[in-house]
Amino acid sequence: MPGFELFGDLERKEVNDVLDNGVLMRYGFDGMRNGHWKAKELETALQTTLQTNHVQLVSSGTAALSVALASAGIGAGDEVILPTFTFVASFEAVMQVGATPVLVDIDDTLGLDPKAIKKALTPNTKCIMVVQMCGGMAHMQAILDICKTNNLILIEDACQAIGATFNNKPLGSIGDLGCFSFDFVKTITCGEGGAVITNNEDYYVNADHYSDHGHDHVGNDRGAETHPFLGYNYRISELHAAVGLAQVKRLPEILNIQERNFNIIKEALKSVSGLTFRTVPQGGVENYSFLSFFLKDLETTQKAMALFKENGIDGCFHYFDNNWHYVRRWQHLTQQKSLFPLSQEIKNGLQELENKTFEASDAIIARNISCLIKLSWTEEEVKARAQKMAELLGSL
Ligand SMILES: *Cc1c(COP(=O)(O)O)cnc(C)c1O
Repeated sequence: MPGFELFGDLERKEVNDVLDNGVLMRYGFDGMRNGHWKAKELETALQTTLQTNHVQLVSSGTAALSVALASAGIGAGDEVILPTFTFVASFEAVMQVGATPVLVDIDDTLGLDPKAIKKALTPNTKCIMVVQMCGGMAHMQAILDICKTNNLILIEDACQAIGATFNNKPLGSIGDLGCFSFDFVKTITCGEGGAVITNNEDYYVNADHYSDHGHDHVGNDRGAETHPFLGYNYRISELHAAVGLAQVKRLPEILNIQERNFNIIKEALKSVSGLTFRTVPQGGVENYSFLSFFLKDLETTQKAMALFKENGIDGCFHYFDNNWHYVRRWQHLTQQKSLFPLSQEIKNGLQELENKTFEASDAIIARNISCLIKLSWTEEEVKARAQKMAELLGSL
């Protein structure tokens, strides 16, 4: 997955353009910048790559989620449904806009289970935040149907899924709003950065203003702009955007390498009895950033992880025992460890969460291993790795 494995002259040239004219700010300073608008150029490039009408770059994937929620008018009193398996950023963003996170079980896509979503709906449900984990996707058609029937806003967290598609549409472009991260370990990176994409003109204008203190960006004199509404600073800098611009040009190459390496390992693991692969819905194509599979039970999976460690098979994650991605270790959320007082609605929601169990999610995450697909492996290295993994898993 990590695009940083391919840094080179392309990145250097884009960054030097910015340093040569000295304008690190994405807005204004028109006369000084010698025609360089890296953030704008990257937004245009992403419009094409992601087949969407509008792109708003922001400072991180977490910021993208907050900006997407705010742009769609989601806040206090609204419930947002999100999965038990995601990155902590998902509930952080929901709580930042004052909405209440409602955690819901996943299925063997590693994404939200449509049946579990239906059970969690209440009159306060305003939005479903589907998280496209490990380069794959949830059962999108069923989730789209639920949103349509219940008049809900669909936000896609596609931070881990750039390049993946569903029915030939890029992930992120299927919901009302899509969010991407370009942090240091993502498929394309600019150090820290993110993007909100949408085909909805109003949401886009909201995102554009909200991510820059509510500035309306009318005319080219920042002093004369007005503030139609409150906003915050989630701006990306020109330096970050410059790196992103180089990286987005590498995306087809990155996806090709990932697909080749993924398939070599997948082929080798097909011979392991009792091993099944993550479900990819019909019409879906992963971005091949991770190979995700399931073993028989928790004990076998823990043994496999120990064997991988002993034998130098790095980059594989057993999220059941991981602090960042699975509800089991999110005590800071369930025990309401906030630095400042939370609203009564959020407190009530979290109170319920503390007593909830997620057997269906546990049954999936306990048996799941997801292995990062690196770009820098040679073909020989991947083949040796695939063979070793098959041998170790076969010995269990
Ligand atoms: C990385 C990630 C984020 C947050 O992105 P940052 O740029 O690190 O803030 C959000 N959601 C998912 C699923 C992620 O993997």
